[in-house]
Amino acid sequence: TDTVSLDQLVAWLARFRELVSQQQGYLTELDSAIGDADHGSNMTRGMTAVMEKIGVSHDDGTQATLVDELFKSVGMTLVTSVGGASGPLYGTFFLRMGTTAGPVTTLDGAALSAALRAGLGGVVARGKAEAGDKTMFDAMAPALDALDASLATGGDCVTATAAAFSAAKAGRDATEPLVARKGRASYLGERSSGHLDPGATSTALLFEALADTLGQ
Ligand code: ADP
Ligand code: MG
Ligand code: MG
Repeated sequence: TDTVSLDQLVAWLARFRELVSQQQGYLTELDSAIGDADHGSNMTRGMTAVMEKIGVSHDDGTQATLVDELFKSVGMTLVTSVGGASGPLYGTFFLRMGTTAGPVTTLDGAALSAALRAGLGGVVARGKAEAGDKTMFDAMAPALDALDASLATGGDCVTATAAAFSAAKAGRDATEPLVARKGRASYLGERSSGHLDPGATSTALLFEALADTLGQ
């Protein structure tokens, strides 16, 4: 059966933590060009706190037994442990994912898509970003469109998340010429053009982590 288990969701989060900490320096370099040079440390601190909270750093495995509990815990931890804009935004993303997933132990493709889309809705509710504002939205929205397009043509979760990762990378790359209209980078006006958006870059890592985990 083509479903994503709770253990795979935990493995996704662990892989995301690994990727943001490996690329901490790069994310911070991107944020130093158009922000305040803390996106790498914000994401690493947040995801390290998440993995401590959800218990996989201990031998006894994960504490949450239901998907909504898991994501509620992830979201609350990000909101409370990350000072920057990205904490509340990613935090709201996971809180909304949890609410939509509900008290289940697995997600099929449609449920995964619905949860991720609710997460994107949370990012928009919180940050009011639209397409082309040069934010994490510009990687996340195309990723979810690609995921849905793949599922609609009979793709399984592995294929669909690989398509989502591809689209997230393309969306990330497309932020380079944009002029930022949200967040700190917007203070730079035209000078924000010519740099990748840090949050779109970490969002591409979020989908890389998902594709890696399900593709294993
Ligand atoms: P801060 O800007 O507070 O230092 P971070 O550096 O951790 O926070 O995160 C910056 C990233 O947050 C940006 O690159 C952008 O992708 C994202 N971001 C900022 N404001 C918004 C918003 N209103 N909506 C969506 N994403 C946003
Ligand atoms: Mg910053
Ligand atoms: Mg900051």
